Amino acid sequence: MDYVMTFDYHTHTVFSHGKGTVEDNVRVACEKGLTEIAISDHGPGHLTYGIKWDEVPKMRQEIEEANEKYPIRVYMSVEANIVNKGNGLDVKKEEIPAFDFIIAGYHYGIPNGYCVSNWLDFHGLKRKDLIVKNTDMTIRALYENDIRILTHPGDKGPFDIAELAKACAETDTWMEISTHHPNLTVGDIRIAAAEDVKFIVSSDAHIPANVGEYSGGVKRAIEAGLDLDRIVNIRRK
Ligand SMILES: [Zn+2]
Ligand SMILES: [Zn+2]
Repeated sequence: MDYVMTFDYHTHTVFSHGKGTVEDNVRVACEKGLTEIAISDHGPGHLTYGIKWDEVPKMRQEIEEANEKYPIRVYMSVEANIVNKGNGLDVKKEEIPAFDFIIAGYHYGIPNGYCVSNWLDFHGLKRKDLIVKNTDMTIRALYENDIRILTHPGDKGPFDIAELAKACAETDTWMEISTHHPNLTVGDIRIAAAEDVKFIVSSDAHIPANVGEYSGGVKRAIEAGLDLDRIVNIRRK
């Protein structure tokens, strides 16, 4: 591959259901030559593995220590859950400043997110209705909040990718090409690329060794014929 990743803004640690510590992720990011990394554990609304608010100060402290110890910029983020309630996220507006920036995606295991319906949809039920509901829910969250990345669009339920891409373009939100998840798919990248939207490749690492993994995502982008200059965090070797 002629490209390398420059920063990885989507990694998990033991503060949600990742396997490594903040320092473990940071160390691997340094070894792989990244210039920036974000710790972006799952939002607090997840029923089993969301971050706990009382652990947020400890997370901040570990991140600041890593910033001092390692030659890399470490950001504290959160992968907020998109929900059909309030400001559209499980992180309230007044809670967002606790983080350097937020990223957001749709997940199972969250109240107020058509979770059961989306799960059942994999058995072929009510697809058309769900596309509208899921897409509206996500677009509302994008306009209501300053979200840096829409993570794995199209994962865990049916979505209208063209409409999501339009909203991401207008709200200056990067669409993620995940290496960990199959979304965006090659077909989705082609659809999204018709809009004036930027993309980011993420590892979505849940174990430290996977921090900085990008080749699977870039391969899908190449297969889709995407102009790779539209991916914000890769550069030619
Ligand atoms: Zn996710
Ligand atoms: Zn994630």
